[in-house]
Amino acid sequence: MRYERSSALFAQAKRVIPGGVNSPVRAFKAVGGTPIFIQEAKGAYLFDEDGNQYIDFISSWGPLILGHGYQPVVQAVQDQAEKGTSYGIPTELETKIAELAITMAPNIDKIRFVNSGTEACMSAVRLARGFTDREKIIKFSGCYHGHSDAFLIQAGSGAVTFGSPNSPGVTQGTAKDTLLATYNNVDSVAQLFKANPDEIAAIIIEPVAGNMGCIPPEPGFLESLRYLCDQNGAVLIFDEVMTGFRLAAGGAQQLLGVDADIVTYGKVIGGGLPVGAFAARDEIMDVLAPVGPVYQAGTLSGNPLAMASGLAMLTALHEQQEVFHRLADKTAYLHQGIEDILAKSRIDYQINRFGSMISLHFTDTPVKDFASAAKGDNQTFKKYFHGMLKRGVYLPPSAFESYFLNDATSYKDLDTTLEAFSETLKEL
Ligand SMILES: *Cc1c(COP(=O)(O)O)cnc(C)c1O
Repeated sequence: MRYERSSALFAQAKRVIPGGVNSPVRAFKAVGGTPIFIQEAKGAYLFDEDGNQYIDFISSWGPLILGHGYQPVVQAVQDQAEKGTSYGIPTELETKIAELAITMAPNIDKIRFVNSGTEACMSAVRLARGFTDREKIIKFSGCYHGHSDAFLIQAGSGAVTFGSPNSPGVTQGTAKDTLLATYNNVDSVAQLFKANPDEIAAIIIEPVAGNMGCIPPEPGFLESLRYLCDQNGAVLIFDEVMTGFRLAAGGAQQLLGVDADIVTYGKVIGGGLPVGAFAARDEIMDVLAPVGPVYQAGTLSGNPLAMASGLAMLTALHEQQEVFHRLADKTAYLHQGIEDILAKSRIDYQINRFGSMISLHFTDTPVKDFASAAKGDNQTFKKYFHGMLKRGVYLPPSAFESYFLNDATSYKDLDTTLEAFSETLKEL
């Protein structure tokens, strides 16, 4: 494949945008080489500026769960654009998507819309602090909750990939209020509660981790967190920015049968436009302004274009809930195919999968927390990534990301992907 135009566009972008990108993982730093620039996407495929075609396994990092250019979403956005792109005044659309989200997700009475997953998580923590009148929070090493200061304390994803877990610019004052626990390790959490009595406002967690590869919770882990929160008067926040409206209509809460107090959403909920949200029962949400004292706002929050897109997406998912099973089945097929090929090789590997989230790690030890995820061999990952790319398969350009399948991907596409995988393996 030729990447001449992408290379030229990247060079041009680097002159005016730091690193040429607006989000670090896009720059291919973890895998080397030049990022491809996209001209267009349709269904399961990406088309770059040099005319190359790829099967897309990131789906805009999740939002395009039904594939690119899903017609009802496109139509909804076009129709709304004709009527105005933003008012800063309430619309019925906001109530409609709120009602639908509350119908689909268990255990929430009210929802507030924001513009990104970062904003959702940042606001959820403020709300939890306001509700409990406490300051400290517990997060898990390797979990990612967006780039707000309180979370850039050894965060996963981008920050991990670049080996700078603590970002400069985050103050010591902020860092001291974020306590770090180990994923799938209840004792690490219990110890923090013991060492900080009556000080912990909330635990925030990805109920199925997706930002250190895919790491499912071990049986009983989330239930134990629920118990510890209840015992200690803390709020349990499920960050469902990735899992929400992907694993099931009701997200991880529904699938795993554990109730959170506050839930955050992003990615799928906007159908490809910038939307985040946080939700909880009335008692908690009514602490938020303008009802209560905890301030939170946004000029473009509940933007009509974004709400039209999100509403069309959630409506489609609500009406065709078999899509969640279909996606999980496709992902299981990919899993089995990769497993069959790797089992015959001499390469060390772990495949983690939960529903339609999957990741491949080049290590011989089970991946169940950040430390075990970090053991993966990145040299092998780089070769694997580029081997797949040149054969027309676009994977996440970092070993710490899970793949996001979309429903436009056919079994034929998956077979093509597995053939590419077989060929790539010969080069590893
Ligand atoms: C993507 C992600 C975020 C951040 O969302 P943005 O829209 O990128 O700000 C937060 N939490 C999780 C679990 C995510 O996967």
